[in-house]
Amino acid sequence: APIIVWLRRDLRLADQPAFRAAAARGPVIPVYVLDDESPRYRRMGAASRWWLHHSLARLAADLEQAGSRLILRRGRSENVLSALAVESGAHEVHALHHVEPWWRNAERAVRKALDLQLHQGIYLAPPGSVLTGGGTPFKIYTPFWRALQERMPPAPPLPAPKLTAPEAWPNSDRLEDWQLLPTHPDWAGGMRAEWTPGEAGAAERLETFARRAARYAERRNLPAMLGTSRLSPHLHFGEVSPAQVWHGVANAGGSVDVFLGELGWRDYAANVIHQFPDYAAHSYKEEFERLPWRTGPEAEADLKAWQQGRTGYPIVDAGMRELWATGWMHNRVRMIVASFLIKHLLIDWRRGEEWFWDTLVDADYAQNAVNWQWSAGSGVDANMFVRIMAPLTQSPKFDAAGYIREWVPELAGLGDAEIHDPGLLRPRGYPAKIVEHTEGRARALAAHAAMKAV
Ligand code: FAD
Repeated sequence: APIIVWLRRDLRLADQPAFRAAAARGPVIPVYVLDDESPRYRRMGAASRWWLHHSLARLAADLEQAGSRLILRRGRSENVLSALAVESGAHEVHALHHVEPWWRNAERAVRKALDLQLHQGIYLAPPGSVLTGGGTPFKIYTPFWRALQERMPPAPPLPAPKLTAPEAWPNSDRLEDWQLLPTHPDWAGGMRAEWTPGEAGAAERLETFARRAARYAERRNLPAMLGTSRLSPHLHFGEVSPAQVWHGVANAGGSVDVFLGELGWRDYAANVIHQFPDYAAHSYKEEFERLPWRTGPEAEADLKAWQQGRTGYPIVDAGMRELWATGWMHNRVRMIVASFLIKHLLIDWRRGEEWFWDTLVDADYAQNAVNWQWSAGSGVDANMFVRIMAPLTQSPKFDAAGYIREWVPELAGLGDAEIHDPGLLRPRGYPAKIVEHTEGRARALAAHAAMKAV
């Protein structure tokens, strides 16, 4: 009987243990289920859907080349897989274990109906397996990373297995019919220019980055430079495994350890979600549920200005416009814009988390929620709320003039000294600051004090 490989965000052939295990047992039917129906399912955002379309198209082509096919079906995972098993005579389903709460639910539901065999391969170590000496999961990143490192390096990545086709192929939806791409307006031009979704695109990014990885520490915080790997959407969709990334850069020398530590943050975020599945819905520190966030029309107008990159703070606006155009934003700038929304605008971190979820091509339930709660100070491992980032100081400190020129063309004519804070040189068409730094800072500190006083 054929074996089903159930794909989710593990869209690769190499170093993919579900493909490997299935291929060793018989003919393989690879299936991707677009599941917008499972309980607690968090519908993928628009930028992610754009990526998914191209990643699936690429995987289908790669499978075709390998003498196989990609079957596309839509609906609730357990129903779709059960129907496919009946049609094809398959009994076994192989998949990689996912940490998102809806996927864990779906895995339980599939297991009730079918022989589901789950494999690891999304993280460096299985979520929930890195434990303290006392056998409990870690809450804080630094000791987590120390413990994870002791288990490294990960096993060397395995090449793509040889796949055998079943005697008959089940029907597949047409990818175009899923309408994952934007039509009117087509806002994806900047994404097409920046990204090549799929396993080959991921391998190429990794190779290019490996040549620069030794200088990661000096350049990673400079948004005007290509200092980081830009592997995040490829990692999110599983077009490359973290083990492949690890082994791809391990010999780069220099400050590559700092980079591996960031990969460790990815595992850490999964470790948090494994313990606290609803982490994106509530502040981990409960007192933050009492923080008097701003609401109402003025706050909504400020939220909109932030989303559109029209706050009057050039570094914030550059970041938000980079996000809108390319589906990605530099990490240093993500920290600045998140802090600005939460503190200067005093808007609930969950509104920012939702916007990122919709607009990032690397939108990831665990990484997004963990980083937003880190910025808010409400998280299990978090920056202090009262440590308020000053965007106008951050901008020259991280040499963002070139970055601002690229993303806020209205300001391109200003010199390196003025561009971070145009003041009286502000050109017509570029907004005045929606809140003054000192005023925003004082308002945030007062709200925090009010929360503490309850
Ligand atoms: P590199 O610097 O090359 O790092 C390599 C990999 O390590 C990344 O691809 C990523 O998988 C992981 N990584 C790096 N930094 C972090 C981090 N702080 N937390 C967890 N993993 C990390 N990253 C996402 O992938 N998805 C998200 O939805 C997401 N939301 C974020 C929201 C906020 C408010 C902030 C401050 C950060 C968020 N990040 C998120 C983390 C980080 O900004 C991105 O992973 C990084 O910018 C991706 O670029 P890169 O691949 O060039 O990173």
